[in-house]
Amino acid sequence: MKPTQSFRYGLSKSRITSFEQCPKKLWLSVHRRDLAEHDAGAEARFASGNAVGDIACALHPSGVMVEAEPDLGAAVAETARLIAEGHPGPIFEATFEHDGVLVRVDVLERRKKGWHAAEVKSSTGVKDYHRGDLATQAWVLQACGLPLKSASVRHIDRDFELTREGDYAGLFADAELLRPLKSIIEGRADVVAAAREVLAGEEPVVEIGEHCSSPFECEFSAWCRRDQPTGPDWPVTLLPYGGGKKWAEQGIEDLLDLDEDDLNPRNARILTATRDDVPFHDAKGARKAMKNWGWPRAWLDFETIAAAVPRWIGTRPYQQIPFQFSLHLEAKDGTITHHEFLSCDSTDPRRACAEALVEMIPPGACVIAYNASFEKRVLRDLAGWFPDLAEPLLALEAATVDLLPIAREHWYHRDQRGSWSIKAVLPTIAPELDYASLEVSDGGNAQEAWLEAAAPECDPLRREALAEALKAYCERDTWAMVAVARGLMRP
Ligand code: SF4
Repeated sequence: MKPTQSFRYGLSKSRITSFEQCPKKLWLSVHRRDLAEHDAGAEARFASGNAVGDIACALHPSGVMVEAEPDLGAAVAETARLIAEGHPGPIFEATFEHDGVLVRVDVLERRKKGWHAAEVKSSTGVKDYHRGDLATQAWVLQACGLPLKSASVRHIDRDFELTREGDYAGLFADAELLRPLKSIIEGRADVVAAAREVLAGEEPVVEIGEHCSSPFECEFSAWCRRDQPTGPDWPVTLLPYGGGKKWAEQGIEDLLDLDEDDLNPRNARILTATRDDVPFHDAKGARKAMKNWGWPRAWLDFETIAAAVPRWIGTRPYQQIPFQFSLHLEAKDGTITHHEFLSCDSTDPRRACAEALVEMIPPGACVIAYNASFEKRVLRDLAGWFPDLAEPLLALEAATVDLLPIAREHWYHRDQRGSWSIKAVLPTIAPELDYASLEVSDGGNAQEAWLEAAAPECDPLRREALAEALKAYCERDTWAMVAVARGLMRP
């Protein structure tokens, strides 16, 4: 499509945010929407944002919602009417337009000395791009003649704890920003003019860079990368913990151009294993590292959900709530039995989870997790919620050991490409146990499946199918640990 110079493009807060991330992103989002890739996480983020927005509105029962129907012109008129008629409560989605820029303010509150605009966010603090969002809104509101006295990002207060069902007073904290944003607000007219100039021109030329994933993963990445050279098979950037950055900055892209002497021991092992296509394997060291683990061995993995809006009494925003665990119990003679817990109706899963742990894991067992800090934290949280079970739960936490650092120190196959996540290691040790055949194949999938199953409107047959998929996935996670540990010890 060839844009016309005379057409004046309408803008919105999100279009200006796109422009500030990358002018080309704005241009593509308007003129070549067809090139955008599907964003798999968008639906979940949208649902979470909606839940947060609904609570922000529910905290003001006297508020009134400005609907986007029949169109946004009508929303602008409805907002003006509510203000002119002195509606005392907050106005939700108050809609304003100035110079072709349309904004909808999440919560517009009439206060003693003027108006307060709040931009509701599901994050636990203010992010850089929030400032631009709020500045755009403040600029439009002020230009429309609204006496705006304050403006805030209304974000989730991480310290909030739900103490009474449905009582979310205190869930949000306001970060007041009108004064600090003064210079950004004053520059908005220039930003808007620059965005329009981009839209009226040809597709801008912008190189791929760090801006492509910050503040958002760009949906036009495939389009922009289509003509990029593919680069080396083994780039320096696969070195973990940013170990390749310094080499990339020196213009060295290929890991195979490095020398072991210039690398720390772990990265040197990665280089050697990659160049020689021979896995690094220190079976003796792995056996030694695991030799003091007691019996029986309880291979444990939790699946959790962490919502912005806490659902259950005693929980906080984004706190990890376990809804499932898988447990492979291994006796000293090598016998293994599988046990599991799953709660996927909408009831609070914590108590049943805590009881199942205490019941299923024999006292004195050695609990083994992969990246165990996560399992330990869940066990500690459960102990905090249920003091009567705290003793056995804290004993489990104290008995938890970590397989990840042992894998990291004693095994590396080049197909791991710098990662020791269980999903990177497993195919290199036990390729028959891949996750590809599973309906739920990663932690993100598991959370989506749980959210669908736990929704009251979920069809019982569908819930049953989701439960089976969740069980298969979690069981694979603990069996994967057993297989990796055995592979590490195998001479
Ligand atoms: S991939 Fe990068 S360069 Fe391309 S439009 Fe997106 S942000 Fe801009």
